[in-house]
Amino acid sequence: MISARRPLVALTALFALTTAPVQAQDRERPIALVGGQLLDGYEGNPIHHAAVVIEGNRIVAVGPASEIEIPANARIINTAGKTMMPGMVDAHVHIMILGHGDYNDWFPWFEGHDDLVYETSAKQLLAAGVTAGVDLSAPMSSLAFRDRVNANEVPGPRLLVSGPWVTRYAWDFLPDELRVLHTTPEEARDRAQSLIDAGVDVIKTWIGTTEEDFRAIKSVAGPAGVKIHCHVYEEEVVWAAIRGGCDVLQHAGSGGSVPAYSQELVDHIAMNGIPVVQTISHRIWVYPATLAFPERLWDPDILNSFPPEIREQVLNSYTKDDFWRRPYFRSTPRQIRNSEKAARQFIDADALMAMGTDTGSPLNFHAESAWREVSALVDMGMTEIEAISAATKVSAEVLGLRETGTIEPGKLADIIVVDGNPLFDINVLGYVTDVIKDGIIYKRDGVPAWESAARAATSTGSH
Ligand SMILES: [Zn+2]
Repeated sequence: MISARRPLVALTALFALTTAPVQAQDRERPIALVGGQLLDGYEGNPIHHAAVVIEGNRIVAVGPASEIEIPANARIINTAGKTMMPGMVDAHVHIMILGHGDYNDWFPWFEGHDDLVYETSAKQLLAAGVTAGVDLSAPMSSLAFRDRVNANEVPGPRLLVSGPWVTRYAWDFLPDELRVLHTTPEEARDRAQSLIDAGVDVIKTWIGTTEEDFRAIKSVAGPAGVKIHCHVYEEEVVWAAIRGGCDVLQHAGSGGSVPAYSQELVDHIAMNGIPVVQTISHRIWVYPATLAFPERLWDPDILNSFPPEIREQVLNSYTKDDFWRRPYFRSTPRQIRNSEKAARQFIDADALMAMGTDTGSPLNFHAESAWREVSALVDMGMTEIEAISAATKVSAEVLGLRETGTIEPGKLADIIVVDGNPLFDINVLGYVTDVIKDGIIYKRDGVPAWESAARAATSTGSH
């Protein structure tokens, strides 16, 4: 088998090589995106035939192209016939998983491959138009990775990270470093304090957390300005989280074991502006989409975004047996029916809803999780412009990332270009042609910068 393995090694080396430098020289000249429709992240009218000018890592001018002065030395990106919009902000990311179908196989392999997995996930998300996000449970090694991405040393979205989640429950097959366990509220407080001291951006609570636990965590997280993101499904757990001071309700609305929430709860959440991140496309949309069209597992846009050794594993996790018979998916058909009700409740009540995907969970590939979630929100009753605003401006606000999420002078230059009009067909968010994050062009004409760098290296390399 040695000869069969040789090409894999070569490709792996190439993959590693291309993670090194990013295009900091992009910032030496202004960049002007010119010609297309502009959605600025608000729920207002688009600007047609627009232009956006970037200097350094900031947006300096936005408006109709006829009224905007384009600097003579600007690098021009022609967006005619396309749509410019803020980079998407995913309020529920997992960079330690990437769509593999069987956690029992994945987590043992992950050990020792942290950085390769993080880098793969981060590139896939960025190429899909996600320019910021919060990771909600990974080992402490994710903190160092966050710092590298945020310094633009490796390609990826701006990242906030929780590190391990805080929980009373140890799931057998999850690695120990993915959680910190407690048995009393006092222990929960101390675990949260330790994470804050270590430099996490947010606290993620997982199952088993009581109202007293939430209160205890809040007593240290609140003064530190660290938001608590709470994994909640059942009505009584949502109430406990709210009463205990939870800042962001995660998963509520994606079904689970509850067919619908009481109107009292939904109204309370909506009227108090408590942010909800539904994560409805994870399992619920991607599962039937895969049964109906298993070919999506071979989609080259997904498969080719994995390094070879991960690509083989991911594909095998779905082809080795009937994945839908596994425990993870056993109750999915019922969850789908429940979510049809629960997701609409929050939309009908006009709750404050950010966009989050639980990206990386089985079947939920980073290369497409964002557009699928936005599409699901539209299916459940949001207008296209509401869903785009939820996925950009609102998500950024909920995460406290107030310098991104909209296209306005003075904001950070996090902009994507999609091929078509998402106000007519929201699924064109799946066709991201250009990605700029922090004033750096990470994807151009459909090709990620690290792929074009790899192609250049191959064509000029010594053989
Ligand atoms: Zn999650």
